[in-house]
Amino acid sequence: MMKVCDSRLPDAQAEAPVPQQRGYLIWDFDGTLGYRPGQWSGAMVQVAQRFAGLDVDLETVRPYMRKGFPWHNPSLPNPPMRAPDDWWNGLLPVFEEAFIGCRISSEQASTLATKVRSVYTDVSEWRLYDDTLVTLRELGAEGWNHAILSNHVPELPLLIHGLGLDLLVDHVVNSAETGFEKPHPGAFQAVLAKLQDPAEIWMIGDNIEADFFGAESAGLSAILVRSFDVRAGRRADSLREVRQFLG
Ligand SMILES: [Mg+2]
Repeated sequence: MMKVCDSRLPDAQAEAPVPQQRGYLIWDFDGTLGYRPGQWSGAMVQVAQRFAGLDVDLETVRPYMRKGFPWHNPSLPNPPMRAPDDWWNGLLPVFEEAFIGCRISSEQASTLATKVRSVYTDVSEWRLYDDTLVTLRELGAEGWNHAILSNHVPELPLLIHGLGLDLLVDHVVNSAETGFEKPHPGAFQAVLAKLQDPAEIWMIGDNIEADFFGAESAGLSAILVRSFDVRAGRRADSLREVRQFLG
């Protein structure tokens, strides 16, 4: 993405002197830069309400969202460049089982399962954290380039565009395309292959296994953000606080 040529950038930013390049910051997306309130479980509740007028309990559906997704089995890669329809079709049994677990008939559950995709990927349901844009801009002005490495749905690039993040990020590497879910080393190799020999590379994310340990196993320095784990050698409560580690 050519940042300086994008007509949506303010003139002042487009004309700012190019700072000395310091390297790449590789960001996780979900739970780090942006989030969907209620996450998958919230989307399931919305689907049942919107398409069947049924009240589903968030806590009843939540355990069903903790298994069966590609990122729940990261040691098993999927074929690269799977068609989005195939990716979503693989999840229909997970959604059906969840709706049935919420006492919805199997017939209605299979219908509702087909609605999850459009509801989950509705960009109007997604948010950026308050410190996301300002921090990425500030770090960009200091010479850092940004990439995203995410375990996510095929529509991730549309969500990133809809949230205005694409203006600040050079590369988006998504497990739905590569087939590699963090912490699989293939996920990190896929993003590193896009970066042209930067001086420094950092991985920043909210998941201790996928983001922190995954990156460190791949030879990268990592920072855990927005979550606490004593095993993380570097952690920050907010994105702005990651700067203390960047030297
Ligand atoms: Mg995350």
